[in-house]
Amino acid sequence: MKILVINAGSSSLKYQLFDMDRSEVLAKGLCERIGLDGCFTHKAKGEELVLEETMNNHSEAIKLVMKYLTDEKWGVISDISEISAVGHRAVHGAEKFVEATLMDEEKLAIMDSLAEFAPLHNPPSVVGIRACMEVMGEDVPQVGVYDTAFHYGMPKTAAIYPIPYEYYEKYGIRRYGFHGTSHGFVAGECAKLLGKAPEELNIVTCHLGNGSSIAAVKGGKCVDTSMGFTPLAGLMMGTRCGDIDPAVATFIMNKEGLTPDQMSDIMNKKSGALGVSGVSSDFRDLAAEAEKGNERCKLALDMFCYQVSKYIGAYAAAMGGVDAIVFTAGIGENNGVIREKIIKNVEFLGTKLDAEKNAQRGFAQVVSEEGSRVQVCVIPTNEELAIAQQTLKVISK
Ligand code: AMP
Repeated sequence: MKILVINAGSSSLKYQLFDMDRSEVLAKGLCERIGLDGCFTHKAKGEELVLEETMNNHSEAIKLVMKYLTDEKWGVISDISEISAVGHRAVHGAEKFVEATLMDEEKLAIMDSLAEFAPLHNPPSVVGIRACMEVMGEDVPQVGVYDTAFHYGMPKTAAIYPIPYEYYEKYGIRRYGFHGTSHGFVAGECAKLLGKAPEELNIVTCHLGNGSSIAAVKGGKCVDTSMGFTPLAGLMMGTRCGDIDPAVATFIMNKEGLTPDQMSDIMNKKSGALGVSGVSSDFRDLAAEAEKGNERCKLALDMFCYQVSKYIGAYAAAMGGVDAIVFTAGIGENNGVIREKIIKNVEFLGTKLDAEKNAQRGFAQVVSEEGSRVQVCVIPTNEELAIAQQTLKVISK
């Protein structure tokens, strides 16, 4: 069975075609600069094609994808009808989409109404789904896979903010959490790696990339997570501030005469590691500059590790103990020095890293010392495969 995964942005569209019987990617690519001058990249059969190709809208982009998936030279299927379903990456399902969902016009209208929850991400997903419906016809199921869904079942004690309850009732303001597809995927892979059932494990999953979040996964279900109503909350990130005293925002706005949008821009794009270091949001740059003696880069790195350790301790408490800590995403998978610093801070939990294993990368493995009470795992995330798997589950129902 073949499943196509689509991740649509406002002017881009990424795709991967999976053969689900072998969990293998048959082809993948990217449509960029949709509505502008257009660039199309397609990888299949070990080769890459790059074309300058105007795509006026997402429907034209999907048509181009279909053309090359079935192309004589570059294609991997002989007809579009070989695609059993399409899984779409969607960011915010709010309280409306609490699991992967088969989409239709009625559901798309609900998704449209959620645009204000994720103005940059939700509208392009709707456009992508509509484009696939138009190009592929009504018989091909289109499934929305939401980043918030994995976190939806967390208890109200973790989800509700201590502000007047009417704002939750009127506007749906609560903790939703993000990166759920990744947290759910690596928690499942961790259970497999440890040879245990997910129900037996308390896991802290650390998705550390340019955007970072942590989740407490008890018995396979999320019970708390660091991001909140928006992906600005929780850990400091590449350019996002994470949790700060909320009064800091109004104080700076008053002092500097800033509008809410300007303040939001500062907290989302000019804060975090970039704001503290004044150098870069990329952790490789920070490490290189810290090595040369830049104190603010060193501070940014130390703050990040400290915050991650604090969350691990907090979530161990939230779950009444922890069996495994999982690192994933760009920093989590690749930066052994950061992992070492974080784990050193939580050694009291009963874990120690195996230095040799911690220096390796590129595959899923346990990197803690044998006999550690708490296992530390590095697991490459694969959100596209997770979306394909969830899509398959929906259409198999
Ligand atoms: P992501 O958002 O998951 O792509 O992660 C981006 C972050 O991961 C950046 O801060 C990078 O410095 C870091 N990163 C990505 N690849 C590597 C690598 N090979 N070695 C070290 N850090 C990396």
